[in-house]
Amino acid sequence: MSKFYVVATPIGNMGDITLRAIETLKSVDLILCEDTRETKKILEKYNINKPTMSYHAQSKLAKVDKIFALLKEGKDLALVSDAGTPGISDPGALLISRIKEDTHLRDSVNVIPVPGPTALVAALSASGLPTHEFTFLGFLPHKKGRETLFKEIAQAKRTIVFYESPHRILKTLESLVNFCPNKKICIARELTKIYEEFKTGSPEEILEYLNRNKEKQRGEFTVIVA
Ligand code: SAM
Repeated sequence: MSKFYVVATPIGNMGDITLRAIETLKSVDLILCEDTRETKKILEKYNINKPTMSYHAQSKLAKVDKIFALLKEGKDLALVSDAGTPGISDPGALLISRIKEDTHLRDSVNVIPVPGPTALVAALSASGLPTHEFTFLGFLPHKKGRETLFKEIAQAKRTIVFYESPHRILKTLESLVNFCPNKKICIARELTKIYEEFKTGSPEEILEYLNRNKEKQRGEFTVIVA
């Protein structure tokens, strides 16, 4: 059986990698990376000398064929993304579903998760908002379906978690002010990094806070709505 490991890597702090992730990356024949330059940083830090190959959202079918050929030869591969867990708002899910649907590979390849950081769980875990039931929305759509989704968020009984980019955070907070002014929200910014920050309040309070502190509009955001 070849092995196809799905390996979580840090979301900022380079120390957040498991012993098993390091051992796994050292053991495989090839590491598939979203961006080989990004992954090189972690490989260098942990003295992992293994060949890498890019695999990302725009990868052509020829790349998938190459990966399939390697697995058919019995090679062990690891998949990593730039940060966090592959397949979570990152490439990987489609490739894994193809492996599991392929008539030859589904019986000859063992797909093995090597769990570790993921921003949505890190954010939830320290947010102080209810975590017993939640819905993860990934990145919100920019146009089509956006308004409907905000209406759904307003009606939601469960905690909602989603990812947002720094360019769109203010626009999204404005939508939350319009559609769900009475919800409690938490923005988790720059998790595990020097400027890590959790800020909780009403959508209006958080919008006002970011407008007042422009430097806080930078970085990576995970948003929680309860
Ligand atoms: N696969 C990753 C994971 O497991 O969390 C997510 C990748 S997705 C392309 C990147 C988005 O995740 C960012 O735009 C941000 O919304 C969120 N994110 C990633 N790292 C983060 C961090 N350190 N702090 C807050 N949010 C983060």
